[in-house]
Amino acid sequence: MDGMDIGDLAERILKGERRALARAITLVESGRADHRAAARELLEKLRGAGREALRIGLSGTPGVGKSTFIEAFGMMLTAQGLKVAVLAVDPSSARSGGSILGDKTRMERLSRDPNAFIRPSPAQSQLGGVARRTREAIGLCEAAGFDVILIETVGVGQSETVVAEMSDLFLLLLAPAGGDELQGVKRGIMETADIILINKADGDLKATATRTCADYAGALRLLRKRPQDPQGFPKALTVSALEEEGLQKAWDEMQALTEWRRETGHFAARRAGQARFWFESEVREGLLARLRREPVKGAMTALAHQVEEGGISAAAAADELLETYLGETPGA
Ligand code: GDP
Repeated sequence: MDGMDIGDLAERILKGERRALARAITLVESGRADHRAAARELLEKLRGAGREALRIGLSGTPGVGKSTFIEAFGMMLTAQGLKVAVLAVDPSSARSGGSILGDKTRMERLSRDPNAFIRPSPAQSQLGGVARRTREAIGLCEAAGFDVILIETVGVGQSETVVAEMSDLFLLLLAPAGGDELQGVKRGIMETADIILINKADGDLKATATRTCADYAGALRLLRKRPQDPQGFPKALTVSALEEEGLQKAWDEMQALTEWRRETGHFAARRAGQARFWFESEVREGLLARLRREPVKGAMTALAHQVEEGGISAAAAADELLETYLGETPGA
């Protein structure tokens, strides 16, 4: 990692060299200040390449069939000549050090495919760090010439929102279930999904899957129509990742939706909105990081003591601190 030539690394990524790509992702995952600076330089160099992939977010609870689906779907796309990258946002590794998505034996066939690139989620301390790393990894995969980037997450906490905010399309993978469980899907995630895929529509589960699909299709029709969607979206479909059924139909729908959004300008507008969202989130996180560093940290501790002892009000102390370090009184 040290003594690395960023210009050389950029060139090798643009040629699609997977080892260079893997190395660059390791660089963007690093928290070291010199690595951050090198990562920023690299991303700036690559930004001008003007390459764009279709970014597809995919969420689903553990066991629903995400890795089976990604492998089958990914193999179908590479067989059609497309280059496919798979990234993961795994909130569990952030919290406990354990991992729901990082299992090395997952997607074995796809990982051996020369037109596929799979990168598990890094162990990071905060979802914010994982989010930035994943966005930067997306940029690197695009520069390396990947056509489709699948960003996988489990439906836990904020991770779905994070992935939806970096995807062009968002898929929700569900298992066949009785009608009661429809209530279990949070309304927010239903509203975020562009296509709901009911997986495991095979064998004994096929009839239940078809019924579940109809239930969700009905529920989706009750949602407010979104201006960025053509007629019929969001949509529910059945698939069998195991038997590789319904995958081409699902891909056709994804392409139809993408094409429509490109033509109507919603595709570019969504990306612009996301860029703005991440800029604002970086500013917020940067401010919080500065609060935790000297000299602000010391000044804050001192003011906190004064607040505790009743020497100054909480609001006045906050104003004083912010005025000193940001140079402006909030609300003034
Ligand atoms: P993940 O935790 O969401 O990544 O789920 P996995 O892909 O590991 O799948 C969990 C289990 O469901 C495994 O035993 C799979 O073989 C099974 N499975 C996945 N997709 C299907 C499917 O389409 N049909 C059936 N019958 N089983 C499936």
